[in-house]
Amino acid sequence: MSFKYYMPTRVFMGNDCIVDNREALKSLGKKAMIVTGAHSAKINGSENDVKKALSMMGITYLVYDKVMSNPTISCAYEGAAIAKEYGVDFIVAIGGGSPMDAGKAIALLAAQEITEENLFSGVYENKILPMAFVPTTAGTGSEVTQYSILTNDKVQSKTSIASDLLFPQVAFLDEKYTEGLPINTTVNTAIDALSHAIEGMLSVRASVVSNALAKDCIEKIVNSIPELQQAMQVSSLGKSNKIPVLSPEKREDLLYASFMAGMVIAQTGTTVVHAMGYSLTYFKDIDHGRANGLLLGEYLKLVYENNPDLAEKVLKVMKFTSVNQFIEMLDLLLGKKETISALEILEYSQKAIQTKNMGNCVVRPTEEEVRKIFQASLD
Ligand code: NAP
Ligand code: FE
Repeated sequence: MSFKYYMPTRVFMGNDCIVDNREALKSLGKKAMIVTGAHSAKINGSENDVKKALSMMGITYLVYDKVMSNPTISCAYEGAAIAKEYGVDFIVAIGGGSPMDAGKAIALLAAQEITEENLFSGVYENKILPMAFVPTTAGTGSEVTQYSILTNDKVQSKTSIASDLLFPQVAFLDEKYTEGLPINTTVNTAIDALSHAIEGMLSVRASVVSNALAKDCIEKIVNSIPELQQAMQVSSLGKSNKIPVLSPEKREDLLYASFMAGMVIAQTGTTVVHAMGYSLTYFKDIDHGRANGLLLGEYLKLVYENNPDLAEKVLKVMKFTSVNQFIEMLDLLLGKKETISALEILEYSQKAIQTKNMGNCVVRPTEEEVRKIFQASLD
């Protein structure tokens, strides 16, 4: 047996875990910058709990709450300028993948001078502000990955900064912050986590350890699907987009699954599915998780055609006997699909095959096969 495994983040999970484990913030510094989105952290209690824990530890803080979904490079530079101006010692990022990824880039840019040209080079000095992360969606697993994914207008796509420097020092996982997540975000982020785990199993870098984590994650998410579907029905019948019907236990399962899937992609990277999804998000504003979900089934079909044993390994974890069963399950979650034109397919396929993610694929599609996946995945 041979494998590599690295995940240096200290993780606390459980009710009130931030306040209860506030000592973990002590070694990070005396002045923090909270990095978050505009609204949700103020409503779901996470920002208050962070502020309470910081105050109890005698740590002062300022709040940068301007992170948008799919954060931009300028957001990272703006946040870093503020962190430098106020002499911040460390970053506490609260939110979904967007504030967490922005938090990582801010921590890096506040600690060293990096030009925009070199931002994605992977070559940095060994300096970064320490980070503590609080995920409030259950999808990206960014709290335990070394990636920060930013919207990159120069290449009209999303590009990742990948460096072991970006692993946060601490992550706090408390499901109560996710209880008010709208159903569509809940489903899309769960699909993102499922995609991470499945893509991890389909990666050339998969190992016994990453596969063990991936299997547990996939089982948890697949077992949650009946409740997710029920919640979707309730929300489509009622006026509210909130989900009263998803139990705290299910919320906890999803948060745990997303964390495990984060540890998977920290080892394996993602595949062509994420590479293709970036164009759907950049050009068509399709949520990140949903973009992956639209493409995942057709990619698994291609894997099945070229490497049936590998595809069957994934299907077996989900207790499916065919790829079509998997596609039917995804279709129920995804609902009506977006359209894509022939020109868009050409352009997005060219972009996808140039990404680093392609090198992770055990079954590496040709450009023609990527075009076919786009064609079959959208209307
Ligand atoms: P997100 O963009 O962080 O958040 C989506 C929306 O959900 C925002 O409007 C946010 O509102 C809201 N929200 C967050 N938590 C909430 C809560 N508890 N209750 C109610 N609303 C809440 O979405 P995401 O899917 O988590 O993250 C996507 C980003 O992560 C993409 O940029 C993707 O590329 C990246 N990603 C990173 C990794 C990695 O390894 N680093 C992996 C996969 C994906 P507010 O703005 O008000 O907070
Ligand atoms: Fe993702």
